[in-house]
Amino acid sequence: MALCKNCGARIADEATVCPSCGAPVTSTAEDFFDKVKDLNNTADTTYAYHPQDVQSNRVMAVLAYLSWLVLIPIFAAKDSPYARFHVNQGLVLAIVEVIWGIFAAIAGELLWFLGFVLDLGSIVFAVLSIIGIVNAAKGRAKELPVIGRFRILK
Ligand SMILES: [Zn+2]
Repeated sequence: MALCKNCGARIADEATVCPSCGAPVTSTAEDFFDKVKDLNNTADTTYAYHPQDVQSNRVMAVLAYLSWLVLIPIFAAKDSPYARFHVNQGLVLAIVEVIWGIFAAIAGELLWFLGFVLDLGSIVFAVLSIIGIVNAAKGRAKELPVIGRFRILK
């Protein structure tokens, strides 16, 4: 016997919809994957960029996520709004990563296990970089999960 996540009514184990409110019954694993998918359900403002700009600055946009190579689009693609969009995200990601690294190092000094756990954050940063690279290469101005809403460039 489970409880409906929508209305709290009791649901038989074999039921696929709630008998009380009709909400579909989902497993915890399905909920988890839905949440992960929702995280990448971010604002996509590709329409606001000129197709010509997107087309000719895709490589510059990809460089924005490759550590210090972000310097190349900062200087070489100053006039490309599309490259600037990705430079902004690459910089925000890099700054958050540095702050996280310092935090993890300090925490690791206090308690090695905590430092170890926080170091796993680097996996998250790698995944975010890959998402950014894929979007940039596809010609999409889509925000990164979680950090994409922050703007440090105009
Ligand atoms: Zn229900």
